[in-house]
Amino acid sequence: MKNHMKLEFSAISENEPFARNAVAAFCLALDPSLDELSDVKTAVSEAVTNCIVHAYRGEPGKIVIECETEAGAVHIQISDFGRGIDDLKKALEPFYTTAEEEERSGMGFTIMQTFMSDFAVNSSRGGGTCVRMSKYFGRNKSSEVANAE
Ligand code: ATP
Ligand code: MG
Repeated sequence: MKNHMKLEFSAISENEPFARNAVAAFCLALDPSLDELSDVKTAVSEAVTNCIVHAYRGEPGKIVIECETEAGAVHIQISDFGRGIDDLKKALEPFYTTAEEEERSGMGFTIMQTFMSDFAVNSSRGGGTCVRMSKYFGRNKSSEVANAE
């Protein structure tokens, strides 16, 4: 059965733990493993932090998260309405950051891609950014069983 939720909250760092835990709680009905849940939390945390740090740079703004679950999968969309990304191709490269002075490592997008099953970003200068990611639960379990056989 499909299930949907939508959250809208202020782009302030206090809301990052709220966002990652709310998404994780929404996924619980799918019975994910602790590792899978931790992957989702990490990816959501990176995306929400990017909205706070890069999209709004401390200015007031809104973040919207929409989640849809279906059998064995969660689809997550995280949107901001901030400054957007100038060069998306570069932004997706490991270690690329526009915030070196803040000692950022430029690994957020790489972490999201690694920890989630599917990942895509849309962005336009001045028009905000939308990250879409999916996680398919239970895949490792079935491959472990297959390997054991
Ligand atoms: P880290 O995530 O390791 O702390 P980072 O945030 O710089 O460092 P990424 O998350 O990979 O690294 O993002 C790469 C770059 O993409 C950022 O430096 C920033 O220029 C841009 N970026 C990412 N998300 C957004 C966003 N929501 N709005 C505007 N720019 C963004
Ligand atoms: Mg980041």
